[in-house]
Amino acid sequence: MQRIRHNYQFNLIRDAIGLLPVKVKPYLEVVNFVIDYNPYWVGFNPPKETGDGRQYCQTCHCVDSHYAPDKKITIFLFSENIKLYNNPFNVIWHELAHAIHEQLDHYNNNWIPITDYEKQDKWGYETFACSFVRWLYRDRELDDWGGNQELQREYDKRPIEFFDKLLMKAVI
Ligand SMILES: [Zn+2]
Repeated sequence: MQRIRHNYQFNLIRDAIGLLPVKVKPYLEVVNFVIDYNPYWVGFNPPKETGDGRQYCQTCHCVDSHYAPDKKITIFLFSENIKLYNNPFNVIWHELAHAIHEQLDHYNNNWIPITDYEKQDKWGYETFACSFVRWLYRDRELDDWGGNQELQREYDKRPIEFFDKLLMKAVI
């Protein structure tokens, strides 16, 4: 299901998507957005808290298709949570990365986690999402987790090569 109530919410999501490389777009066609709805009220049944103690009904997150009642990848966004980010696009891109990851059958990377946030996740899902956002940051500006592509290059070049190949090169 898609649940976007207000134009400004729609515009925020559209603008975040608009900045992404064109080859990301097919991955977004199967993704639904729900913004400022309690997951329990719209038929989802997440655990109460994330692994680090945040409430799922207040924390932006991406639900894998098999956990969604309609079997669609669903990104939950919450305005109050988005406000905590320096750049609201960061969290939207992060959640979209999880949606892409599912469509790649949770491509099993052994990329090096760089920031504290992704180091807590032993499955590599957060490393995938954080690496995607770093890949979008070409200069020394830091994303909301303290990363950028320069840092990525220093620690582990493989995610950059992976996303370049997946999303930047033309199909031959
Ligand atoms: Zn994440």
